[in-house]
Amino acid sequence: MQGRWLVTLQNLAATGRQWDTDVPMAFLRNPDIGSVKAVSELVSDVHWQAELARVGDIFRLHGHWQGKIKRQCSRCNAAFDWSSEGCSEWAFQLGGESDHGESESTCEYVMPPGEINMLDVLREDIWLAWKSDVICSDSCRGLCQGCGVDLNRETCQCKQDNSDHPFAVLRDLNLNDE
Ligand SMILES: [Zn+2]
Ligand SMILES: [Zn+2]
Repeated sequence: MQGRWLVTLQNLAATGRQWDTDVPMAFLRNPDIGSVKAVSELVSDVHWQAELARVGDIFRLHGHWQGKIKRQCSRCNAAFDWSSEGCSEWAFQLGGESDHGESESTCEYVMPPGEINMLDVLREDIWLAWKSDVICSDSCRGLCQGCGVDLNRETCQCKQDNSDHPFAVLRDLNLNDE
């Protein structure tokens, strides 16, 4: 039922259109659907609340989404389900870019009748919210720099007193980063 996610701007009702729904991860993960890179790491449906409304010549999409993505902790390397969320803020306008002044450059121009796949819009938003460094938990203790054990699971055998080690300060900075 992908058709539910296709919108034709020219045919948008005067009342606009609203979504408050779970977008199936099977669609967002499927590279055969849409044209924006599929989010193959998704491990949950994405809850999406959004409203598309026409204001003059501009179609504004305003909303919020949240979902879970399989990631690897940048401290301890363990795989975990990263809770990600973000806003959907878009402005669309019918026509080619050259038809309009440069002052409207924050708009996406769509050739009439203005076919938009909301799955692609949502994917763009998910990629925009992507962070390269994510941690499994604020309290993640990471891996020991000396012996490599996961300090969340095991007690390190290294000597704890290395405070005079030249890299001790750097390591503490890393752990407190975020
Ligand atoms: Zn971790
Ligand atoms: Zn160690």
